[in-house]
Amino acid sequence: MKITSIQIGEIFVPLVTPFKTALRTVENVEDIIIRINTDTDAVGYGEAPPTAVITGDTKGSIVTAIRDFIAPAIIGMDVLDIDTIMQRVHRSILKNTSAKAAVDMAVYDLYAKCLGVPLYKALGGASDTVETDLTISVDTIDKMVSDSLAAVAQGYKVLKVKVGKEGLADVERIRAIRAAVGHDIAIRVDANQGWTAKDSVRIISKMEDLNLNIDLVEQPVKAHDLAGMQYVTQHTFTPILADESVFCAEDAIKIIQMGAADLINIKLMKTGGIYEALKICSIAEIYGVECMMGCMLESKISVSAAAHLTAAKSIITRADLDGPGLCKIDPYTGGPIYKENLIHMTDAPGIGITEVPGL
Ligand code: MG
Repeated sequence: MKITSIQIGEIFVPLVTPFKTALRTVENVEDIIIRINTDTDAVGYGEAPPTAVITGDTKGSIVTAIRDFIAPAIIGMDVLDIDTIMQRVHRSILKNTSAKAAVDMAVYDLYAKCLGVPLYKALGGASDTVETDLTISVDTIDKMVSDSLAAVAQGYKVLKVKVGKEGLADVERIRAIRAAVGHDIAIRVDANQGWTAKDSVRIISKMEDLNLNIDLVEQPVKAHDLAGMQYVTQHTFTPILADESVFCAEDAIKIIQMGAADLINIKLMKTGGIYEALKICSIAEIYGVECMMGCMLESKISVSAAAHLTAAKSIITRADLDGPGLCKIDPYTGGPIYKENLIHMTDAPGIGITEVPGL
């Protein structure tokens, strides 16, 4: 099965409610989608969101990277020669990790289709179900409490609460949410680089003193401030999760060896896809550091690729794969089934998506 061409399109999906973090506010998923054609009937699908404030990728840069650099490097290649394909994808252009991720997942989709199995099985997994949290956007306390209660009513057992704009006032947000949802619901806190290292220690210690029982605190300090994150990790008891600080396997090694975080958040849009994400999993396995699988504001193609990887790797113990859960509609045919907090992989080969509008 040889790659013959890559088609590029766009998908627009409105969100149920605007997505607000310390870095940005977004109202719609507007992603680049791709279809890799082969010399057989089989096609592979991929998706990349333009998350400029985190990865530096824009719609224009994703299209150019795929059309002018990545596609020419892999057209004509046999899909089963996946190791060489991935090396060519990663050598074809520096950075541009979201563009690489879209192509990577479409190739893995085809690879699993060649083998006739769902992607999670092609990656060595046995479990077909993944539990995800749901993101609660940063807002007024009342709005965050009502959003949290609505999420719990929908069946979510883990909330990922966005904070990071107001220092100690963020503690009040978490305290109000904990009081409203009770202690059976796990709460993750994502500061999206919004605090300094000393603020982080003060805020996290306060949450510990109040017994708010936080599952983890995600990326408290600036992405480049590894010394600051190490300081936070060493001076608090709550597990610290590195997100924006970890893009590739080299970042993961450095952070783990420094003790700069307790956990690693893997996102396909940071790693440039499954191939590099698998390397982070191997490093994390060696050091016994658990991982979370996250996503940007993505719809069902790329989140499903991430869900298959999560189902395949036991070192990924947490999933923050709520992109489709935040979308008003599912524009695709086929793929894993998203039912409240659970994502069920089907027996369909590859990622499982069979039709994508516009491609
Ligand atoms: Mg994050």
